[in-house]
Amino acid sequence: MDTVIVVGGGPAGLTVARECQKNGWKTTLIEEHKEIGVPINCTGIISADGVRDTGLKIDDIVVNRVRGARIFSPKNIELKVQRTETVAFVVERDKLDKKLAQEATEAGVELLLETSLLDVRNETVFVKSRGRGEIKKAKIVVGADGPYSKTRSLMGINLPKEKFAHAYQFRVKGNFEKDFVQVHLGSFARNYFAWVVPENEEMARIGLAVSDGSVRESFEEFEKKIGITGEKCDMCSALIPCAEPLRDVVRKNMMLVGDAALQAKATTGGGIIAAINAGKACAKAIDLHLKQNAPLSDYNKYLSGINRELLLHWKIRKYMNSLSDDKFDDLFAKMKKSGVEDFLNRHGHMEKPSLFVGKILKNPSMWRLFPDAINFFFS
Ligand SMILES: Cc1cc2nc3c(=O)[nH]c(=O)nc-3n(C[C@H](O)[C@H](O)[C@H](O)COP(=O)(O)OP(=O)(O)OC[C@H]3O[C@@H](n4cnc5c(N)ncnc54)[C@H](O)[C@@H]3O)c2cc1C
Repeated sequence: MDTVIVVGGGPAGLTVARECQKNGWKTTLIEEHKEIGVPINCTGIISADGVRDTGLKIDDIVVNRVRGARIFSPKNIELKVQRTETVAFVVERDKLDKKLAQEATEAGVELLLETSLLDVRNETVFVKSRGRGEIKKAKIVVGADGPYSKTRSLMGINLPKEKFAHAYQFRVKGNFEKDFVQVHLGSFARNYFAWVVPENEEMARIGLAVSDGSVRESFEEFEKKIGITGEKCDMCSALIPCAEPLRDVVRKNMMLVGDAALQAKATTGGGIIAAINAGKACAKAIDLHLKQNAPLSDYNKYLSGINRELLLHWKIRKYMNSLSDDKFDDLFAKMKKSGVEDFLNRHGHMEKPSLFVGKILKNPSMWRLFPDAINFFFS
């Protein structure tokens, strides 16, 4: 019998499994695909702050370093946020997951590929492994099985599709500015945005996400808007959580972590760092439960710092979603005039919006730019 079965071999699951096993609890991780990290459904951009905070070792999987963003309004008014140092890394996402898998197996985790979760009844876990039904036993089951989480539905939590955006991305050949990512806002990427993330001067990961409608048609509109003509490859199409983080993350002996628990930044869609941090919080709750009989629901306590920031990302997203294209253009024009670029250069933070929202609130010339935002932040 296992102590813990983790469902899903992405950053969240691999972190939980590694930490549980390191704490001395016999842990098995099941992953439905035959290879960790494949298929890639990600742009692979992670903030330098996040890398520092999580202690990720990524030197050998970095394909590019960026030091800023060019953010475009619907009518192409540009805000350029830049630093002299690296603010984010573009990584080979499949290799990141493989690295985390290696750490987990080195810690002693049993990794079962081509094995998917079917059902959980208390401590009995039904799986399909390489085409055959099997029964496993575990005290605790952790669902780290991504946005479409089977574990979440087995826990009786059914989320409406509005909690997710649909993303669509290609790698595209062209001429790109290597140091900057581009973010494009507008109704073609309804309630989300489009991105150009360079791997180098000749290749970029270009995509967008939308809250509804045809993501492919939206992408075609964006292609025309920015004049993408280069050869495209490696298409991916997947969901990104776009909501506040789930509070209901523990039911009986089952827990949720990562995208399965909507633990991703609703502003940018970034979920790798949150998944790793939440994975550590989940493993801590499991450890204290098994050692000291603390309730598993203490997981919520250990998530509080992560959730506070994710909630703020969600409030910013809700505010952004309330703006029409014309309002975005007006706002960008006003922001440019008021020196917001300089403000963001000094105070912007990709992981912790509380750091710069706090600065905005202390600076009347800044918050007067966003009078309607107050309704979102204090609701
Ligand atoms: C197009 C796109 C671009 C993105 N770009 C970025 C980015 O640049 N930076 C960033 O930080 N985040 C990005 N994200 C989000 C990021 O990919 C996720 O937030 C992150 O992968 C969450 O990790 P996770 O471990 O929770 O889930 P996942 O990485 O989705 O892992 C879940 C795993 O569970 C497995 N699984 C599912 N169901 C079962 C089952 N029943 N049984 C067994 N296994 C199962 C899946 O195969 C998968 O391997 C992007 C997402 C998309 C869609």
